[in-house]
Amino acid sequence: MPTLPTKSSWTRIAVLFLQGGASLQFSMIPMNLITDPASQTADYIMTGSWAEKAYAEAKKLFADVRMAASSKGVNYSRIPAQEELTLNPGATYVHMTSNNTIFGTEYPYRPETGSVPLVCDASSNILSRPVDVSKYGIIYAGAQKNLGPSGVTVVIIRKDLLGRKANLPSMLDFQALAKEGSMLNTPPTYAIYILGLVLEWVKEQGGVTEMERRNVSKANKLYAAIDESSFYLCPTEPRSRSRMNVPFTLAKPELTDAFLAGAKSAGLVTLKGHRSVGGMRASIYNAMPEEGVEALIAFMKTFERSNG
Ligand SMILES: *Cc1c(COP(=O)(O)O)cnc(C)c1O
Repeated sequence: MPTLPTKSSWTRIAVLFLQGGASLQFSMIPMNLITDPASQTADYIMTGSWAEKAYAEAKKLFADVRMAASSKGVNYSRIPAQEELTLNPGATYVHMTSNNTIFGTEYPYRPETGSVPLVCDASSNILSRPVDVSKYGIIYAGAQKNLGPSGVTVVIIRKDLLGRKANLPSMLDFQALAKEGSMLNTPPTYAIYILGLVLEWVKEQGGVTEMERRNVSKANKLYAAIDESSFYLCPTEPRSRSRMNVPFTLAKPELTDAFLAGAKSAGLVTLKGHRSVGGMRASIYNAMPEEGVEALIAFMKTFERSNG
């Protein structure tokens, strides 16, 4: 059984249910943590499109936003290793994106940032594996990948990071929102209700430990099917591969449309890859059962037999 956080860790952490999506957090986090835009800095680890968006929003609010590392030069096909991060010990926070939804990469480790708070956009892998929340300053996630319907954003924040900046608009102020239990105005009640049901479901299934077991099994099967064939290619470095979003391309890219059309008639939909990667992307979040992955693999083998 997974152990629940102890009472004392909850007294140090606030969990907020907000609106505006993960995208609003790209602005809210610097707004709340950067109290002196002229002198403070923050480090951003650039691992994909969402990290770029987070960086761009921070840049609008203060000038000294630094890139601690970037894998853009290899089309974000890998996660920089700890040794590749040039972290500034005086930074106000370090921002990372734990799973890169579009490029299909996921951190195989948690960056060590010393006493600098680690801020993590976990929108596309929250609840997919156990996480030691105490090691983070902020974990945030739009609900719509693993938590529930869109419309609610979860922000797990260390209480000492609340109330750093005075006179923020109340609806953008973590402290004000925490003080009212996320009910400073009418909260997105339906989305929060469904999120609660999803959490109960996860608990009944065996918790995040069981989610991780299933996700490892699903991802291993799919990557193995891609790797054992020269007909399918995976653009990501093996150690950085995501368990949630599996991109793959065809050795004969001219067959991509035929693959997608065939998959659709087999009942396998939304497999088109993002235009920045091309090919296909199978998003196999917590809600995707193992049978869904097996159906995709079966279709891939059939398609290869008739087109290989
Ligand atoms: C989907 C996603 C977002 C955007 O979430 P919204 O709630 O639509 O703003 C941000 N970051 C990551 C990693 C995502 O996967």
